[in-house]
Amino acid sequence: MRAPRRLSTPVMVGGVALGGGAPIVVQSMTNTDTADAEATARQVHELWRAGSELVRITVNTPEAAAAVASIRERLDALGCDVPLIGDFHYNGHKLLSQHPDCARALAKYRINPGNVGKGARRDEQFATMVEAALRHAKPVRIGVNWGSLDAELLARLMDENARLAQPLDSSQVMREAVIRSALESARQAEQLGLPAERIVISCKTSQVQDLIAIYRELARRCRYALHLGLTEAGMGSKGIVASAAAMAVLLQEGIGDTIRASLTPEPGGDRTREVAVAQELLQTMGLRSFAPMVAACPGCGRTTSSYFQTLAESIQAWLRASMPAWKARYPGVEEMRVAVMGCVVNGPGESKHADIGISLPGTNEVPVAPVYVDGEKTVTLKGERIAEEFQAIVEDYVARRYGDRGGAGAAPRRAKDIKIKAV
Ligand code: SF4
Repeated sequence: MRAPRRLSTPVMVGGVALGGGAPIVVQSMTNTDTADAEATARQVHELWRAGSELVRITVNTPEAAAAVASIRERLDALGCDVPLIGDFHYNGHKLLSQHPDCARALAKYRINPGNVGKGARRDEQFATMVEAALRHAKPVRIGVNWGSLDAELLARLMDENARLAQPLDSSQVMREAVIRSALESARQAEQLGLPAERIVISCKTSQVQDLIAIYRELARRCRYALHLGLTEAGMGSKGIVASAAAMAVLLQEGIGDTIRASLTPEPGGDRTREVAVAQELLQTMGLRSFAPMVAACPGCGRTTSSYFQTLAESIQAWLRASMPAWKARYPGVEEMRVAVMGCVVNGPGESKHADIGISLPGTNEVPVAPVYVDGEKTVTLKGERIAEEFQAIVEDYVARRYGDRGGAGAAPRRAKDIKIKAV
């Protein structure tokens, strides 16, 4: 399918370009009380360190609005320049008007057309928020959610549908209502003076097929930048699978300029998981690269210990944790492929296809682990310290291959040039 035509100018959210041919942006959202500036700044910082390029915070009370400028200052002091997006519902018109410091500190405002107000006050309050965006030169996201769909609009469409000779079913009407809510609000914002290049649209549902159908139609009917995500995706593997299933279909068709994986963390769980999932979705689809990826076999009856699983997990975690420091120092390292394999059946082959790989011994095999660098076997590890030695080899490879790229002392790339520390 051909990619739908989009605006050629990106929406600038702080220093981050969204749409207009820019790389697809990963974003996330905090779950702290925004009024607690210290806790919120800490979580924003964690999300940014994990790779989130935009972070949304809820702005739901005067106390939360009053804390936003302080959150921004704390982040700046930490050297964290991630743009903050304010999520407004019900009282955004008041908060943006009464807290100009908040309006200034945010890089974008999310407006939910279903939660702006009712009747005549709806248009007035919507206009107040758009005027704040104009006053402070900010973009907005018109963020429709089917859980808070504009009830008046839905009732109007239901009435219109009932008069048709062949009425649509209720789910088709709902999809149309979600799309109309976004497009009518976006056009209203344009009529108030907000340029199309400062508008982002989203229409989130929690059902995969609804999301795909809605975004295909949205992409056909407008050229605004699109924020993509399955809302209320859920917990654990269900949330990850549903988000990936819905977004992958659309991304493959060129639909979506920024994504969020709306996962429900386990109680006390790690909020940065949603960032890793969004990054892995883009990277496994070949759309962007964020961190070296580890290919690991699933294991089978030929591996009676969990050693290779532990090694694969620890190497992946170490690579990801190293990225904040490596990003500037070793450009291109995010594209490195590492393999950790469980036995001789596919181990050497997969390891040769990776930039660097290790094939661990399966049950009844000689207890040695050959290491392959750029497709060539370079060393065989054995003993108790295979994990540490393999990590040292990877570290050495990264420094040599990606350090000082393109300079006079450009790094050697072939295995024979790689100094092996462990033998
Ligand atoms: S590489 Fe070996 S251990 Fe891994 S799944 Fe294949 S046969 Fe099993």
